[in-house]
Amino acid sequence: MVHGTVDGIRDAVAGLRDARRTVALVPTMGALHDGHLALVRRARAIADAVVVSIFVNPLQFGAGEDLDRYPRTLDADVAALAREGVELVFAPSAAEMYPEGAVETSVVAGHVGSLYEGASRPGHFDGMLTVVAKLFHIVQPDTAVFGQKDAQQVFLVRRMVADLNAPLAIEVVPTVREADGLALSSRNRYLDADGRRAALALSESLAAAEAAAGEGLDEVLAEAAAAFGDHEAIELDYLVVVDPATFLPVDEEATGEATVLVAARVGGTRLIDNAGIVLG
Ligand code: AMP
Repeated sequence: MVHGTVDGIRDAVAGLRDARRTVALVPTMGALHDGHLALVRRARAIADAVVVSIFVNPLQFGAGEDLDRYPRTLDADVAALAREGVELVFAPSAAEMYPEGAVETSVVAGHVGSLYEGASRPGHFDGMLTVVAKLFHIVQPDTAVFGQKDAQQVFLVRRMVADLNAPLAIEVVPTVREADGLALSSRNRYLDADGRRAALALSESLAAAEAAAGEGLDEVLAEAAAAFGDHEAIELDYLVVVDPATFLPVDEEATGEATVLVAARVGGTRLIDNAGIVLG
C-alpha cells in the first residue's frame, strides 16, 4: 500500500482506474492528526479509492524554517491510514520528487501568494503549488481534498486549477479543533505547556472577531487583536480580514461574508488559523 516511487504509485493508480474506480487524493506532509483524518474520511465518502501523499516538501520551506525538525512519523501515519481504509500511500523521498535537485520550471502563485503567509514566508506558495501540481500530474485524481485550516492555500490551489485548467475537482473540509478551540496542526507538538496555553489566542481572536462582526471592520480588528494581549508567550504576526472571492483585504464599508486570517509565533513555532464571519 505504501509507494515511494512515481512509477510505483502510477502503476497502482492505473490498477484502480482499470477497475473503473474514482480516485481522491489527500496531499499531506505527514505527522497525521484528526484534521488530516477528516480529509481522508471526506475523500472516502466522495471517491471509490483514496490516495494519501506524505511528503515534507523542501521547496515550500524557507531558509531557517523548520524543514529539518518537521515531525516525521511515517510508520504511525501509515498505520492510521490503514485503519481508515486508505488504499494507497505515496511517500516519496526528496530525490524521487526532485531528481535534478532543484526545479527549473515551477508554478508561481502571483499577487495573493505574496500576501499574509506569503509575506512571512517568501516563496512558500510557489513551492506549495509546484508540488501540488506535481502530485496532481503523478496521481491524476478525480478530486483532491484540502483543509480550510490553510485558507490561503485553498484559495491559491483553486486559482491554479482554474488558471491552468487542471482536470480535477477541489474539495474543502472545515478546520478540526481541539475541545478548547485550538486548530489541530502538526506543529502543535512543538509547543510546551505555556506555549499551548498561549496558542489559544488564535482561536480566541477569531471568536472575538465573530462576536464583533456586526459592528464593522475596525471593531473586528480591534477585538481580535485584543485577544493577544492576554498571553505573553505569543506574538501576533498578521491579523487581516479578506474578501473570500479575491483574498484581498476588505475595507471599512464592507458587508457580508469575509474571512479573518491570523498568524502568530509562539517561541519558534508559527501557527495560523482563520474563520468565516459576516460583516454587518
Ligand atoms: P499539512 O500536512 O499540514 O500540509 O496539511 C495537509 C492537509 O491537511 C492540508 O490540506 C491542511 O489544510 C489539512 N489540515 C491540516 N490541519 C487541519 C485541521 N486542523 N483541520 C482540517 N484540515 C487540516
